[in-house]
Amino acid sequence: MRKAAVTGHPIKHSRSPLIHGFWLKTYGIEGEYGRVDLPPENALSFLQNLKENGLVGVNVTIPNKETALEAAEILDDAARQIGAVNTLWLDDEGRLNGSNTDALGFLGNLDQRAPGWDERKGKAVVLGAGGAARAILWALQHRGYQEILLLNRTLEKAEGLQSHFGEPVRCELWESRSKALEGCDLLVNTTALGMAGQRPLEIELNLLPSTAVVTDIVYTPLMTDLLVAAKARGNRVVDGLGMLLHQAVPGFEKWFGKRPEVTEELREVILKDMGLL
Ligand code: NAP
Repeated sequence: MRKAAVTGHPIKHSRSPLIHGFWLKTYGIEGEYGRVDLPPENALSFLQNLKENGLVGVNVTIPNKETALEAAEILDDAARQIGAVNTLWLDDEGRLNGSNTDALGFLGNLDQRAPGWDERKGKAVVLGAGGAARAILWALQHRGYQEILLLNRTLEKAEGLQSHFGEPVRCELWESRSKALEGCDLLVNTTALGMAGQRPLEIELNLLPSTAVVTDIVYTPLMTDLLVAAKARGNRVVDGLGMLLHQAVPGFEKWFGKRPEVTEELREVILKDMGLL
C-alpha cells in the first residue's frame, strides 16, 4: 500500500490528513496518509530516506520547508525560485523530487472561485513579504501580471523579494498601502493580519476599483475583515481556504496516481472540522 504523510513540528493541527483522507475514500484508493512529527534536527535524514521510512512522499510544513529544498535531488522551477519545498515524492527511479505547490494552490483557488480574475493581468497589490508572499509573487509573475506592487511592514524584506524576483515586482512603503490600491485589479493579503488572535489589517478601500478581485490567504476566520469590507462595496472576494485545498492536489496526484478535484463537499468537510458549519 502506498503511504504518504504530512511532516512538521508541531503537526497535530494539520488538516492535510483530512483532505487526503477524503480523496482516498472518494476515489476508492487503497492508500494511507498520516502525520509525522519531525523536529528540525531529524528532518534532513528523515526526508532523504523516505523509502526506508515506508513513504512514497510527504508534505512538508513549518519549520522544515528549506530543509526539504536541500533534501530534494530534483527541484522544479517553482521550488527553486520560491526557495522552499512543501511537497516531496519519489519518482520511478527512486529519486527524491521537490516542488512548492503553494503557488499553484493560490492560482487554482482564484481560477475556481473567481473565473476571469486574471483577464486584465494589469496591476496586483500584494501585502506582506513572508514565506507565502514568495509563492504568490512567483504565481503572479508566471501568470503574466504587468505590475506587482509589494508592500510590507519591514521594507528590507520587500526589497529583498523585489531584487530576487525582478520585474514586474516593485516595492512601496507599508504606510502607502491604501493609496497603492488606485487602478488595482487584484489585492492579495499575505500577512498574518486579520487572522483570529492577530491584529486587524488596517487599510482604506476607497481607491480600489469596484472591478478589482480581493483575496486573503488567511482563512481563520474564513471571511476576514478585509473580505467583508471589500464584499460590502461590491468587489469580488475569494477566501483563503481554497488555496489550502488546491495546494494539496499535485502531491496527491504524484503519490496516488489520480488528480483529485477540489469540490464543495471537500470544502464542507474542512469547514465542519473548523467548526464553521
Ligand atoms: P511569515 O513568513 O511569518 O510572514 C508573515 C507576514 O505578515 C510578514 O510579511 C510580516 O511582516 C507580516 N506581519 C505580521 N505581523 C504584522 C503586523 N503586526 N503588521 C504588519 N505586518 C505584519 O508567514 P507566512 O508563512 O507568509 O504566512 C502568512 C499568513 O498566511 C499566515 O496567517 C498563514 O497562516 C497564512 N497562509 C495561508 C495559506 C493558505 O493555504 N491559505 C498558505 C500559507 C500561509 P514583517 O516582514 O514586517 O514581519
